[in-house]
Amino acid sequence: MAHELAPLPYPKEALEPHIDTLTMEIHHGRHHKAYVDNLNKALAGNAALEAKSLEALIRDLASVPDAIRGPVRNNGGGHWNHTFFWQILSPKGGGTPAGDLAAAIAAAFGTFADFQAKFEAAGIGRFGSGWAWLVANQGTLQIVSTANQDNPLMGKSISGVEGVPVLGVDVWEHAYYLKYQNKRADYLKALWNVIDWNAVSANFARAK
Ligand code: MN
Repeated sequence: MAHELAPLPYPKEALEPHIDTLTMEIHHGRHHKAYVDNLNKALAGNAALEAKSLEALIRDLASVPDAIRGPVRNNGGGHWNHTFFWQILSPKGGGTPAGDLAAAIAAAFGTFADFQAKFEAAGIGRFGSGWAWLVANQGTLQIVSTANQDNPLMGKSISGVEGVPVLGVDVWEHAYYLKYQNKRADYLKALWNVIDWNAVSANFARAK
């Protein structure tokens, strides 16, 4: 079965003013859609790969033939990353995490403000396009970043990092340029207002 673009879990204007409506419309309807379409194109005719789940596919890029490994890495990663990103945002987001996640963040990074500063630095420090991640790795939380549409699930040999994503933030210019232009730092600060800590906590519970 072909991979499909799911609708956004909220209206495209729901994250205003932190993420503007036009950015959401283009980001989901064009950028994310292109990753899905190009992933399906790359897999076409390979029944064994077409039958795999998206996550199984990006967790085992070594089993993808050389001729399509690049497109599957870029577009499969793009599809997974964006699907994940929409899910950790919410118009009811913001505030601070609670419970196990709050305790794990405190243990790994100190105060919540310390964590935010380190996460923002990872996003700002990613040269060019990529993602900042909070991952669970060997029982601890870590902040990492990847280039392009790479994902920690792809493993160290491919993405340069490892771990199970708990929180992921898109720092490609297409994620913020219409509203924030070159000010990636302002976008990253604004994003805390729409992070859905319940969704992030659920990711953490699954990742542990
Ligand atoms: Mn994006």
